[in-house]
Order: sequence, then structure tokens, then C-alpha cells
Amino acid sequence: MKRLAKVLFIVMSFLLSIESSIFAYEENVDDYICNTKRDLLVLMLTYPECIKDIEKDEEGFIYLIMQNNNKVLYDDKKEKSHEQKFYNSDLQDTLEQIYPLDMITDVMEEGKDPGRIRSYSFLSNVYGGSKEAVQKNIINKNTYYGTMMFNKINGAADNLEKALNKVSELAKQNTKIYNFVSPTSGTFNYRVIKDTGQLSPHAFAIAIDLKSDPADYWKWCNREKGGNRISIYPEEIVKTFEECGFVWGGKWAHFDILHFEYRPEIILKAKCFGNNEVTENKEWYEGCEINQDTEALIQKINSIIDK
Ligand SMILES: [Zn+2]
Repeated sequence: MKRLAKVLFIVMSFLLSIESSIFAYEENVDDYICNTKRDLLVLMLTYPECIKDIEKDEEGFIYLIMQNNNKVLYDDKKEKSHEQKFYNSDLQDTLEQIYPLDMITDVMEEGKDPGRIRSYSFLSNVYGGSKEAVQKNIINKNTYYGTMMFNKINGAADNLEKALNKVSELAKQNTKIYNFVSPTSGTFNYRVIKDTGQLSPHAFAIAIDLKSDPADYWKWCNREKGGNRISIYPEEIVKTFEECGFVWGGKWAHFDILHFEYRPEIILKAKCFGNNEVTENKEWYEGCEINQDTEALIQKINSIIDK
């Protein structure tokens, strides 16, 4: 009898463990689908003239259909380390870490680089796939800090102008701000990121470096010096750029404190879904502003992803 009880116990625990692992799996799948839909929504909202449609193929891979009819893969579904994501990223990798909208006072913890991972396939299709193609999209913006060459696609140049106008207003009231901005250190530069072979966002003319300091870059100094610089960096500059759709390189463990990069999808995801865990009782889009445009996109995303 004792033996039968033991066998029964083992069988019961086995069945229970199967059930709980299936449950955990379903929960993860729901999280994944919810996150996929959120990513697609923020991308379609922030690149309205560049993304025409979305598509799901028979194997379940999701693509953005770009204005030039090229397809950009959303998720390659490969297991990757943080470093591999930097070198071989898809759109899902780029939006995985939520960008913190609150000001920070020290270098981010290791492995936290929200916005530093980029999908080159996406950037090339939006801003230009070669030096010549990017150059065709560049316009000159006359600003208080000089003439800036920036990409006109998707409002990048307009938003840079807006951010610099606002910053120059703030700087007039506060010389400390001016001293962190001017002289600026460059926008367009068709180059790779040192020691990586990866194109810099400056190559797409979507990034600006403000006034340079020896403690600005993770390769120029140690974490302590970087942290000190972050702790005195004016929050007003960071907030102004973020409001215009730029991420700040100061919020990366691989800090790049003088660097601001136009990535409106990262900012919008943080705003709408940053403090918004996926739960059973909530719709996946809760957190984003609902209007006619978003409603149509939500329906489209549901119909394609749920099929
Ligand atoms: Zn830069």
C-alpha cells in the first residue's frame, strides 16, 4: 500500500509539473505576442510615411513592408547574447529594453543599452542604403549653433531643429546649459563605429554630438568618470531631446554622453508601455492614446498577428 501511494505521488507530481510548464509557456507566448503588437504599433505610429504594411508568412515570421516595397524582418527568432544582438539585430531586439524616461544620476548597469541596438536593414530602408542615398535625403538646418546637416526623412531634421531651438531658449536663461551644448561636435558623418565595423547612426544623419568632454564616452574613460559627468549633465537638455524623439547615449551602459539619436519608436514605446506590464485583464494597447489612426492600426495588427 505504501508503495502504491509513492507511485501515485510520483505520477501526480509529474502531471502537475507538465501542467505548470504548459501554463508558463502559454503565459510567455501571450507576453511575446503582446510585445510584438506593441512594437509594431509604435513603429507604424512613428514612421507613418516609411512603413506601408505588415505581413506574416506561413512560418510565422513577421515583416514590415516599407515604402520602397522592401521587407524588413521583425524577429529572426534566434537566441542571441546582448553582444550578438548589437552585431546582428532585428527590430524586436532594438525595442526589447525599455528606455528610462526619468533622469539618471550614474552610468546604467551593465547590459542596459536601450536604443543602442539598431536594425540596419530598417535604418537603410528608411534613411538611405548607401552614402549617396543618405546624402540625397540630407538637408541643412540653420540653427543657433550653426548649420546642421540632417536627414529630412520621417521628420528627423525638423525634430533636430525643434530640439536645438528649445535648448537655445533654455541656454539663454542658464549659461550652464550653453556650456554643455556649444560648440557642437557634428551630425552627418558616413563612418563606422570604432572597432565594431558597424555603421554609426551618424552615417544615416540621424544623430548629433553636442559639446565633447573627455568623460563622455565609455572607451575614453572609466565608469566613475562617466558617472560623474552624467550626474552633472543638465536634465533640461536630455528632456528636450527626448520630447523631440531622440534617445540620449548617456542612458547606455556603453555610455556616449554627448550623443543624441533620433529614435522616436524607442521614446514612444517608453511613454506608452514603459510602466505597463502585460496582464490578463488588460488590452495590449492600453497605455497608448486612442484615436481614429491608432484604432485602425490596432485592428490591422490584431488581424494580421492573430491569424
Ligand atoms: Zn554620436
